[in-house]
Amino acid sequence: MALRTLTSLGDLTGARVIVRCDLNVPLKDGVILDDGRIRASVPTLRHLLAANARVIVVSHLGRPDGAPDPAFSLAPVATRLGEILGEPVGFVGETVGESASAAVSGLGNGQLLVLENVRFNVAETSKDDATRHAFASQLAELADAFVSDGFGVVHRKQASVFDLATIVPSAAGLLIAAELEVLYKLTEAPERPYTVVLGGSKVSDKLGVINHLLPRVDRILIGGGMVFTFLAALGHRVGASLLEQEQVETVRGYIEGAASRGVELVLPTDIVMAASFAANADHTVTSIDAMEQTPFGASGLGLDIGPESAAMFASIIESSATVFWNGPAGVFEFPAFSHGTRAIAEALTKVRGLSVVGGGDSAAAVRSLGFRDEQFGHISTGGGASLEFLEGKTLPGLEVLGW
Ligand code: ADP
Ligand code: MG
Repeated sequence: MALRTLTSLGDLTGARVIVRCDLNVPLKDGVILDDGRIRASVPTLRHLLAANARVIVVSHLGRPDGAPDPAFSLAPVATRLGEILGEPVGFVGETVGESASAAVSGLGNGQLLVLENVRFNVAETSKDDATRHAFASQLAELADAFVSDGFGVVHRKQASVFDLATIVPSAAGLLIAAELEVLYKLTEAPERPYTVVLGGSKVSDKLGVINHLLPRVDRILIGGGMVFTFLAALGHRVGASLLEQEQVETVRGYIEGAASRGVELVLPTDIVMAASFAANADHTVTSIDAMEQTPFGASGLGLDIGPESAAMFASIIESSATVFWNGPAGVFEFPAFSHGTRAIAEALTKVRGLSVVGGGDSAAAVRSLGFRDEQFGHISTGGGASLEFLEGKTLPGLEVLGW
């Protein structure tokens, strides 16, 4: 654990410092639904401003197609950052180029600006090392030092996360340091029983995680969209619910692997089936044996775990000494399908040991359901990144910082 931290950069007075933040907040019609990731970026930014650096914030937002798209502009995020900092925050409508260079030149000591969405540049996420490196070199021209603080992206080998750190003096910011301190505890001798709760919608991203977690945990609870691939693997018919047919065989292997390792792999016993994917959709609770026998037949969609499962999950969580949760149990954005997620969140607040919520939507879910950050041991800004860390994988964006 030799992560380079801010002090390794020395005196930053007057230095141009690029800070890679993860300001990828949920947005709807230009309105920020949860500003948790912006607030999480503030300690490092304040620290650098107080050190009289000239601060240049780089981030992505969403998944634009490698070209400018106003729907993914960071402009509203820059405005919100200014409100939170209580200081003027400049914004430039490009990441590199003449106006970006000019704006950086005009930046005074202790001032800050935000560059436009780095993913408007197709090279940012290129698989080709030379392409990425060339783009990172353009960014490097704007900076004397690089601070990496976007924990949510450290598992990505991308130009502004990985390559830039190889070109200019670089260090981890305060958010990454804080995230690692907590997640490290989950990999080094976590108190037992250790329970991991998984859900959400990025099914194929997350299925592989289970295999890696089996040797490390005591219990895995499955909810959310991925549960239907498990239920299908056990022979249940799941209607029109999210299902990764080509993963069914693999998932059957995980179920057997769990059994042979003595890990409890816990699936729901009841599901909330809905007539359609809508907030006001007709819905009914059914046992997992009868998901296609509701009035909606085979076109019904499972949008939440049922109340019996929620109560069972809650009691397993409450009796655990360490809990990590990633991925909502249902479509929490629709109040009718938020009960499973709420029950899990509530149970996490009662855990006596360490409870960690990871993931952009999971963090947004607990806040939108009215929970306060302090009720949990830690709310991680990274979903995929924290999962890969727990799997014991090498994360390119951390390795490059000396971790
Ligand atoms: P995180 O950002 O916390 O890692 P994900 O991005 O994987 O989580 O998933 C969050 C999304 O999963 C939410 O928008 C939620 O609506 C969706 N989701 C949860 N359960 C289901 C389900 N049964 N069917 C469809 N979508 C679901
Ligand atoms: Mg998400």
